[in-house]
Amino acid sequence: MGRPAVFLDRDGVLNRAFERDGVPVPPRTLDEFEVLPGVAEACAAFRAAGLLLVVVTNQPDLARGTLDPTLLQAFHDKLRAEVPVDDIVVCPHSGHEGCWCRKPRPGMILDAARRHGVDLDRSVAAGDRWRDVDAAHRAGVSSVWIDWGLGEPLRDAPGARFGSLAQAREYVLEVCGAPRA
Ligand SMILES: [Mg+2]
Ligand SMILES: [Zn+2]
Repeated sequence: MGRPAVFLDRDGVLNRAFERDGVPVPPRTLDEFEVLPGVAEACAAFRAAGLLLVVVTNQPDLARGTLDPTLLQAFHDKLRAEVPVDDIVVCPHSGHEGCWCRKPRPGMILDAARRHGVDLDRSVAAGDRWRDVDAAHRAGVSSVWIDWGLGEPLRDAPGARFGSLAQAREYVLEVCGAPRA
């Protein structure tokens, strides 16, 4: 019997992502790192309901050498200052490294769940790309697809689709509060 958790993708879910050539890209400067409307309030509601909040984010630019680790730290300091998250887990690898943590692999979710004593049956992962939806399913948690209009195709069908995390708030609370089977 563990705690329910919400596993949150970062870019495009918590903070604004940008589109370049049809592909979402993360912020590149601290000014571009902007927490999206309603995110702080939704996360406060999740915390108030007893949910653990874990950010799980692929950051392959670390492996590519195009993201300075000190800038990543500054992004996450800004995020923590505005949004009450319990943990931030980063996959620093590129797609070529075959690591266990890069979504769609479930490593970040499963390792954090073990560390924090999470009840996966009552947990949800929210993300804006197919990798997030597939990682949720491989880890055995419900999925919420945040569709901000990029038009990128999914692979697995998500459990639910919303235009923002703020709009997903009641759904997440319902899934995580559902009685255990
Ligand atoms: Mg994302
Ligand atoms: Zn990794």
